[in-house]
Amino acid sequence: MPNRPADPLGGRNNLGPVTDVEDLLAFLEAAPSPYHAVAEASRRLQAAGFAAMDAAEEWPSGSGRFFLASGGALVAWSVPASAAADAATPFRIVGAHTDSPNLRIRPRPDTASQGWRQLAVEVYGGALWNSWLDRDLGLSGRVVVDAQAEPLLVRVERPLLRIPQLAIHLDREVNSGGLDLNPQRHLTPVWGVGPVQEGDFVEFLAEAVSAEHGQAIDPADIGAWDLMVHDLATPVRLGRRRELVASARLDDLLSCWAAVEALVAGDDDTLEVVAVACLYDHEEVGSTSATGADGALLAQVLERTVLARGGHRDHYLRALAASGCASTDGAHATHPNYPERHEPGHPVSVDGGPVIKVNANQRYATEATTATAMAAACERAGVPHQWFVSRNDQPCGSTIGPVTASRLAVPTVDVGVAMLSMHSARELCGAEDPVRFAQMLSAWLAAPRP
Ligand code: ZN
Repeated sequence: MPNRPADPLGGRNNLGPVTDVEDLLAFLEAAPSPYHAVAEASRRLQAAGFAAMDAAEEWPSGSGRFFLASGGALVAWSVPASAAADAATPFRIVGAHTDSPNLRIRPRPDTASQGWRQLAVEVYGGALWNSWLDRDLGLSGRVVVDAQAEPLLVRVERPLLRIPQLAIHLDREVNSGGLDLNPQRHLTPVWGVGPVQEGDFVEFLAEAVSAEHGQAIDPADIGAWDLMVHDLATPVRLGRRRELVASARLDDLLSCWAAVEALVAGDDDTLEVVAVACLYDHEEVGSTSATGADGALLAQVLERTVLARGGHRDHYLRALAASGCASTDGAHATHPNYPERHEPGHPVSVDGGPVIKVNANQRYATEATTATAMAAACERAGVPHQWFVSRNDQPCGSTIGPVTASRLAVPTVDVGVAMLSMHSARELCGAEDPVRFAQMLSAWLAAPRP
């Protein structure tokens, strides 16, 4: 495949068999919700010899490959043989997030208006609402069927829902004056015709879960759900030479995929650090949750890996003192139709290589030291890199980087793949950058211990 540059180090690197971009498309397709992203990441990790850990059980004391899944988040780590004997071995952490802005099904969803049956939804994160209009939408997430059981994954992949846009004849100024969407009134999807029918959604859900899991589920046994709407259009290669990737959830499943690929590709015999991939949930809504970057999840897992190896809190804090973190998230490519929105001295091109993101006001956690280390990793991986800074008259987005850096006191770099239309229901990036990004992360994880 032309997507993968030849090994610049002639086989002497530690990059492993990072796969091609078609594998990213498969990951995106498998993960319409954070819960599905965790299930797919778990499947890939298990296939690569990572053992699932239970948070309530004791963890193994030796070296090996492990992961902990928790709702829409997952932490995976690889303990090399050298670290089994040294509880203060530093961590090298790749962080990413599984969630994307979308619409989520409310607890009492059955509603109707003007003879249309509709489902009540709540806006999740900073979605570009217009991008959800007039799309054929499915449903995915998890359902608690009885209070004792683990939640069940559910995915409805047929055209089920649609948010119809107002005809231009009834909104003549829309193209010149802009589209005015009220999230409470204008984003409610339709899913049929007729008067409101209380219990209709739960009945549908029981049927969907029954069909997917091969067991008869009574609607009365459904407790609650974390369900969301997804665009049914599949991820594709796009363009004259198929040099682009168009898909939902590139932000930030692309980074989740690359983090898992890089961790799996690592060589545990030569690794000098404990390599970690942390896929958080709830980044798009501020990261404050049991599975978000502003929670205790990662710190607890890291400390427990030290305690499991016979270390104490001092070993853990010494390990952190020499650790590093790469916060991986989407980056803005310079838009061809809106170049004036970008910092003119720092253009970012699609397929121009990984983007190191800098913000003096700490919306990104990058420091001179961490940026230098990541640029060096790019060089070792044989991939170019670019720099992003926002304009002084334009607010800057943020990532899990500053939150993770401040919770762990670990130097962090913010880095990502360039894309257009971030937070649209469908985003656009280059077809070469994703594999380069995974190769860069592999090289960064494989760097010698500081
Ligand atoms: Zn993101």
